Amino acid sequence: MSDATEATPDRVGQPRKRVLLAKPRGYCAGVDRAVVTVEKALETYGPPVYVRKEIVHNRHVVETLSERGAIFVDDTDEVPEGALVIFSAHGVSPEVHADAKRRNLRTIDATCPLVTKVHQEAKRFARDDYDILLIGHEGHEEVEGTAGEAPEHIQLVDTAEDAAQVEVRDPAKVIWLSQTTLSVDETMERVAQLRERFPELQDPPSDDICYATQNRQVAVKAMAGECDLVLVVGSQNSSNSKRLVEVALQAGARAARLIDYAHQIDEDWLAGVDTVGVTSGASVPDILVMQVLRWLSERGWGEVEEITTANEKIAFALPRELRKDLVR
Ligand code: SF4
Repeated sequence: MSDATEATPDRVGQPRKRVLLAKPRGYCAGVDRAVVTVEKALETYGPPVYVRKEIVHNRHVVETLSERGAIFVDDTDEVPEGALVIFSAHGVSPEVHADAKRRNLRTIDATCPLVTKVHQEAKRFARDDYDILLIGHEGHEEVEGTAGEAPEHIQLVDTAEDAAQVEVRDPAKVIWLSQTTLSVDETMERVAQLRERFPELQDPPSDDICYATQNRQVAVKAMAGECDLVLVVGSQNSSNSKRLVEVALQAGARAARLIDYAHQIDEDWLAGVDTVGVTSGASVPDILVMQVLRWLSERGWGEVEEITTANEKIAFALPRELRKDLVR
């Protein structure tokens, strides 16, 4: 008999439909700061406000800010001379700053301070002439920004093949750094692989995978084993949201899906499902999670239990360039 069609009976013999809701989930301090930066810039300077790349990787956030007058561009050369441009939470390379300066753009840098911390580490170890192995996903904006700090010292390690093939100048002077939004477990696997080849590989001075990424993975792991289906609210281009799907599956969820909106849930996914886990990536406003809970409740999954593994209290000050112009 397939356990996919079984459901745990409750006291009156009916299948017990329930939702486990992960906490922490959703907005992290860096995303909150970046979104508020665009909102405040629109209020303070008036539209249009240009934003290089998606301010955070979430469709709903980008669409909402676009409606309010933000114009999202791929690069600074699309911004009219002298206009205001905001750099996204994922960070930019020094070359992008230089381009903006050349084109006389006014800039506000909404790079998350925890990404800036990785940039500082990259600069410091490049200055000390280390080979830096940057574990991250090829093509991700954050990785491009970090690698741009010291392109001659940094090599990207994305896949197991990369780790098996990468070469360094001096195996006694090599350090790994990482993208902030990776799976903790997979990153450690990659590090172990690299360390086999380079036993003197140094660790970063502090964790590069940020508190928010780690906390959301811990929370989804805590409930995944009890879930027939985990719904991760997040966009397809959100690295940390995609990692939550993978972590849920690795931690025992029988299925896991990434959705932007409640209406994307396919009723077929719920066939034979008893417990649904719900979580969301660090760039997702909680209103989208609430819509998912309402959708589930309308179909009989009205009982919600929050599974709390941490209480986050971190907040970051808005960028200095904006703060000085805010009306007090
Ligand atoms: S996920 Fe982490 S690094 Fe990225 S914006 Fe949020 S706190 Fe910053």
